[in-house]
Amino acid sequence: MKHDRSKALFARAERVIVAGVNSPVRAFRAVGGEPPFIARGHGARVVDVDGNEYIDYVGSWGPAILGHAHPEVVRAVQAAAGEGLSFGAPTEREVVFAELVNQLVPSMELMRCVSSGTEATMSAIRVARGFTGRELIVKFEGCYHGHADHLLVKAGSGAATFGEPDSAGVTSAVARTTLTLAYNDVAALRELVHARGSEIAAVIVEPVVGNMGCVPPEPGFLEAIVELCKTHGAVSIFDEVMTGFRLGIAGAQGRFGLTPDLTTLGKIAGGGLPLAVYGGRRDIMSRVAPLGPVYQAGTLSGNPVAVAAGLATLSLLEPALYEKLEALGARLELGLASAAAKAGVPSCVQRVGAMITLFFAPGPIRTFDDAARQDKERFARFHRGLVERGVYWPASMYEAAFLGAAHTEADIDRTIDAAAQALAG
Ligand SMILES: *Cc1c(COP(=O)(O)O)cnc(C)c1O
Repeated sequence: MKHDRSKALFARAERVIVAGVNSPVRAFRAVGGEPPFIARGHGARVVDVDGNEYIDYVGSWGPAILGHAHPEVVRAVQAAAGEGLSFGAPTEREVVFAELVNQLVPSMELMRCVSSGTEATMSAIRVARGFTGRELIVKFEGCYHGHADHLLVKAGSGAATFGEPDSAGVTSAVARTTLTLAYNDVAALRELVHARGSEIAAVIVEPVVGNMGCVPPEPGFLEAIVELCKTHGAVSIFDEVMTGFRLGIAGAQGRFGLTPDLTTLGKIAGGGLPLAVYGGRRDIMSRVAPLGPVYQAGTLSGNPVAVAAGLATLSLLEPALYEKLEALGARLELGLASAAAKAGVPSCVQRVGAMITLFFAPGPIRTFDDAARQDKERFARFHRGLVERGVYWPASMYEAAFLGAAHTEADIDRTIDAAAQALAG
């Protein structure tokens, strides 16, 4: 596989863009080597600038559930673009989009569109603080909620990949208002809430973690978050930027039958364009300006082209898609597990729906500490082996891989073969 053009572009990129990339994990630092530059994508495939084709399991880190360049999404975007790119004024499509989100995720009674998942979680936290008049927030180690200061504490994936769970530039005053607990530790949560419940504005959680690899909640964990928040007057926030529309049409909350106070959505919600949403209980969201005193705004919020992509994407989601993803996921899970067993690699495969991780440590992986015990070298070799064999896999052992509507059983089987060879090598 040749990478001459990618190498040349990367050398140019490194001179003018930090580390040559616009988001850290794209730099491939954790796995060695250099990233291929992507020229185009179609369905489950991406093609790099040297003409190498890959089966894609990154899916733009989540959004690409319908595959790349889905014709109906592209048509919607083109049509919207032709009508004008941005007005800074309300448009009809935003209403239709919000009505659809409310219909699919009924806990989102009142919402706001923003432009990134980071903005959505940052805003949800501000609203929770404004609503409760309290300062503390509780998060779980290994959960990533975007790069706002108060959420960049023990934040998994990108940060953890570089061994910087706490970012420089975050003041200690801000970090002190964020309390962190181990994921899945109900006893610790109960203890903390009983001790300091009257100071806690919000508990924020990835209902299934994707940002330390795929880690499901143990029975009772999410229920305890929702219940304890209710009892102590704190706001429960499900950060479904990754799980929303991925683990089912109503996200993780639909899958587990739970109703958080606030929810954040992004990634799939924007269909590949910069669009995210936060919302939930009407009484809480009514505190947002101009209805209430919590300020939040955005020049490009609810951008007409982004909303067109999101609306077209959400309109194409249907129960049959999730059944297909479940079946493909099970096939990949089984194949990866048996390939790893055959190669004698200490590992475990964890999957929820169309999110899957092969961990290079014996399972189960329940917490960030478990995930951090992986064999980094082995993962790096595995990743290089996959890329060389035409499988584009997340370049961090703390990231989940994603399946989409365009993957086929043949793709899965080719991937399992590639994995078997990569694990043997
Ligand atoms: C990706 C992600 C975010 C951040 O979204 P951006 O659009 O990258 O800012 C927040 N929370 C979760 C759970 C995510 O996976």
